Amino acid sequence: MTTLFVSHGAPTLALEPGNTGRVLAEIATRFPRPDAILVVSAHWDTRVPTVSLATQPETIHDFGGFPPALYAQQYPAPGAPELAQQVASLLQAQDIPVHVHPQRGLDHGAWVPLMLMYPQADIPVTQLSIQSTATPAQQFALGQALQSLQAQNLLILASGAITHNLADFFTANRDAAPLAYVTAFADWVAERIQTRQWQSLLNYRLECPQGAQAHPTADHLMPLFVAAGCAAGLRDTVQRFTPENTYGILAMDAYLWAA
Ligand code: ZN
Repeated sequence: MTTLFVSHGAPTLALEPGNTGRVLAEIATRFPRPDAILVVSAHWDTRVPTVSLATQPETIHDFGGFPPALYAQQYPAPGAPELAQQVASLLQAQDIPVHVHPQRGLDHGAWVPLMLMYPQADIPVTQLSIQSTATPAQQFALGQALQSLQAQNLLILASGAITHNLADFFTANRDAAPLAYVTAFADWVAERIQTRQWQSLLNYRLECPQGAQAHPTADHLMPLFVAAGCAAGLRDTVQRFTPENTYGILAMDAYLWAA
């Protein structure tokens, strides 16, 4: 099992992949091609953790006001209902409530990075939802419950954002210099991950001076906590990738935990 966190940026990343696209494609060459993929995306947010049993998940264009070319994008990967059932069983075994959804498709937090990593769309994929109303520790526990998948050739793809304050959006210039707090928070997170200070990471809102500014709401950081929980019990080494900052506010950091 490989665990990967990616910052998925703006939906237009699918049309303008830039250096992030190059780095994501390169990351995909660093571990074996997985038999199936479990995506934990910030864009599927439910009260109770939910997995999708879709056999042919639709490509969901869950955004508004973007160019027609973006709505024409399709990612026709097969579903992974058996993996979804396995994930549901693992959560139940930890007394974590879980629901199954018969047909939920892939949101852009899933299909945009997948398109850049595996453009053939031929690897089965399912999604596990986040809970923006949960605590970081509860999302970390979701990841811990997935650790027993480690013997399988799977990819856990957590897709969110290292920084996500859209109220600070000030320019349409993709290459704008990052705001100071963006870089400071991204580096603070990197220190916590590389030194395995999980409790400090989960407590980012109190412990990091830029925490609340970088994430006015926690939804886009929740996938990172799931990935951290997944990786916390493993001896894998972690690697940070910093392909770019976009629009001055979105650090595009990725973290790969691999044996
Ligand atoms: Zn997003």
